[in-house]
Amino acid sequence: MNLHVRAIAILLVVFSGVSTAASAQGADLDPRIVKLVAAISEQRLEAILKKLESFETRNTLSSTDSPTRGIGAAREWILQEMRSYSPKLQVSFDTHQVPKQGRITRDVELRNVMAILPGRSPRRIYVSGHYDTVARAGGQGAANASAAPRDPDAAAPPPADPNAPLDNLAPGVNDDGSGTALTIELARVFSQSGMDFEATLVFMCHAGEEQGLIGARLHAQKAVAEGIPIQAVFNNDIVGNDKGGSGIIDGATIRVYAEGPEDSPSRELARFIERWGGRYVPSHHVRPMARPDRFGRGGDHSAYNQLGFTAVGFRESRENFTRQHDVRDTFEGISLPYLAQNARVNAASAATLALAPPPPSVLSERGQPLISRAPSGYDANLRWNASPGAAAYRIFWREAWGPDWQHEMLVGNVTSAVLPNMQIDDYVFGVAALDAQGHESSVTAYVTPPRANTPVRTGSGQ
Ligand SMILES: [Zn+2]
Repeated sequence: MNLHVRAIAILLVVFSGVSTAASAQGADLDPRIVKLVAAISEQRLEAILKKLESFETRNTLSSTDSPTRGIGAAREWILQEMRSYSPKLQVSFDTHQVPKQGRITRDVELRNVMAILPGRSPRRIYVSGHYDTVARAGGQGAANASAAPRDPDAAAPPPADPNAPLDNLAPGVNDDGSGTALTIELARVFSQSGMDFEATLVFMCHAGEEQGLIGARLHAQKAVAEGIPIQAVFNNDIVGNDKGGSGIIDGATIRVYAEGPEDSPSRELARFIERWGGRYVPSHHVRPMARPDRFGRGGDHSAYNQLGFTAVGFRESRENFTRQHDVRDTFEGISLPYLAQNARVNAASAATLALAPPPPSVLSERGQPLISRAPSGYDANLRWNASPGAAAYRIFWREAWGPDWQHEMLVGNVTSAVLPNMQIDDYVFGVAALDAQGHESSVTAYVTPPRANTPVRTGSGQ
């Protein structure tokens, strides 16, 4: 069969597949994921937040010897709480000795709290927040009101005794009790769901975020050194307040920041969350943001990005800066229905991703995108590498000037497709892998590799 005939055959398969899908729209949703999402409890989130607030401070440099106050008590409680959920969860401290440096003003033992839900594959999907807190005079409100953007890595003035615990009140219920509570609650609903996931899920409560993403950097560095396959990080930081300091209230949307360049894996993860979070939680609108984070501000997802991992940052849509890095960051500033919606979007998209095959690679062994104009010279000819466990693939495309996928087409268990008379120069193409039940991976886009600058020599040419 020549390639044109084969292309038509593929398209026929494709279109019959589309009509089947269209006639059973609800079949896209996995009832087990619907049930998992419905298990998220506002009451549980409330209890976790109030417990976190009760430690008064969770500053990375605070006391560790009190059973009720400071970061030592907080991390022990988080560990025991997650251990109580299910014998399936492997809960441990991810401990690092950190000598004095930057905003770490004295030698400190830093402990991330990590709960692993093993899947059939070692590849990992993280849901995370940071449980450490900070409060300074004036808080983030004063910092943001000054004219120039602040250097987030600027050193804080040294305390009177640098070796004394930093025990000033720093409740941090929204920053980042909210992301921590979301992470802990997802550890519960995932481990108690009775579901077996393809990917390994990791529920990670980082420390040291407020001193420069220290806990996340240390964990990401370890992952690089040990070859731990981190597929994606869903980082949640400040996701529990729906009343902006501007007076604008928005409890129906969530921002998802994703580092570029355009069509980077992190951008594809944000699109994935918009697509699958939106299907399972249609009442909550995901707003992907094509930038690493907010101006002058940072979060743990960036620590993973900087070491080459795929990671995005969830941020509430309307922040109240007067309640951040401030003693006023209390439970009063939380909207439980809003936090629960953000937890549902995380749960739906993380569950879908963890059930799906890994996203396919679209690169040749030489690192070139497997896209061409063959056979006619004017077609879109897409090839990809088979993804383990895939039963089908879905092709996506959009105008080359546009942020969101506009068209999609289900193809069978094949590793190539031809779209006749589609100019590859005018569209961005991508492909996702699906298992037999329709769980879809994130999309891998066909991207032109950057070209090296070739300086032109001038002069006599001798
Ligand atoms: Zn934070």
